Amino acid sequence: MALLQFMCSVTPLARAATTRSRAIIISSSRTITTTTTKTKISPPDSNVLLGMSEEQLQQLAIDFGQQSYRGKQLHHLLYKRRVKDIHEFSQVPLAFRTELQEAGWVVGRSSVHSSVTAADGTIKLLIKLEDNRLVETVGIPVTDDKGSVRLTACVSSQVGCPLRCSFCATGKGGFSRNLKGHEIVEQVLAIEEVFNNRVTNVVFMGMGEPMLNLKEVLAAHRCLNKDVQIGQRMMTISTVGVPNTIKKLASHKLQSTLALSLHAPNQKLREKIVPSAKAYPLEAIMKDCRDYFHETSRRVSFEYTLLAGVNDDVEHAKELAELLHQWGPGYHVNLIPFNPIDGTEYKRPYRKAINMFQSMLESRKITVSVRQTRGLDASAACGQLRNEFQKVPLAAPSIEDIQPEPEFALEPEAAVAC
Ligand code: SF4
Repeated sequence: MALLQFMCSVTPLARAATTRSRAIIISSSRTITTTTTKTKISPPDSNVLLGMSEEQLQQLAIDFGQQSYRGKQLHHLLYKRRVKDIHEFSQVPLAFRTELQEAGWVVGRSSVHSSVTAADGTIKLLIKLEDNRLVETVGIPVTDDKGSVRLTACVSSQVGCPLRCSFCATGKGGFSRNLKGHEIVEQVLAIEEVFNNRVTNVVFMGMGEPMLNLKEVLAAHRCLNKDVQIGQRMMTISTVGVPNTIKKLASHKLQSTLALSLHAPNQKLREKIVPSAKAYPLEAIMKDCRDYFHETSRRVSFEYTLLAGVNDDVEHAKELAELLHQWGPGYHVNLIPFNPIDGTEYKRPYRKAINMFQSMLESRKITVSVRQTRGLDASAACGQLRNEFQKVPLAAPSIEDIQPEPEFALEPEAAVAC
């Protein structure tokens, strides 16, 4: 679920952010830097070191006739030193480096095609993948009351998205392909590099629906946790709802937050806002969210984008409170005032309407927060920057495109609905 427009604080800081100063100067106006894009498309290389665990790297070293500690060195170079090219692996013997390169192995880091910096410090990067596809990632720095800096990386899981939610710039841009695990991990590393600071939180809320690419999302989650050393509790996986996948995610018992993009208190309205909801009735989603909470003991966060005159009435708030009470404890509501994008008639609600909606929920004992919208001047809504540079629409999705794994196969209706 891609909601860069919703970005801000997600979970409390568990690991102290370093106090190193940032390498970039946050300007008060929007800045864009661009490099030239080639048009040749080639498939991503599968011999990629980034994303591999220490054990896998040790095995790789052994496979190349090296001692296993060479694998540990590779791990250190990839995840601690953040070296981007095998020929810069100076700790490793030249012969091993050469053999790796001759066998087609690469580190798997991509270049930054362009970046946009907002006045509030949010930086959106457009990363150019190996096949020249462009994908967005966003870094959001937040300094809390005690002066601690939290840096959240909002990562994409797909190039584009097939689900076409009515308010989303990514959905309007079409769908190209799923990202590989390392292509998700490298987004976090790119954010750390541009901020010259550690990422403390990761939210899978960039371009794409993570549940349609669950295998690679889980691979990236593992790597970010074990190798990049970001706590599971500092990560949030967001979804608009793909049948059967919440159960699958729950079975992994991750200590990460599930964020369910609800956007409406009833099925009829939800289908208008999120067309793919036709394939996943609200009752089934709520049941799966309740089961996720019971399975993981992690509270589910319900994301609710407030669209002026569409779903922001106090009656909607009452209905939402009733829905949540019906499904028991273990939830939190994030209200997200809509961040306007091109090509949509939706409008951001006035502050008064937001306050009334929030008050109604609070009066009914619902824990709720209103997300501060970040980077309004930085094309921050998900997909906006990519659309700015990649004017040619991506292909419309086929059924095959949106089948994550055979056991998660969507009904054809879901694909049509998107
Ligand atoms: S269209 Fe895709 S990326 Fe956009 S909000 Fe919906 S699920 Fe997220």
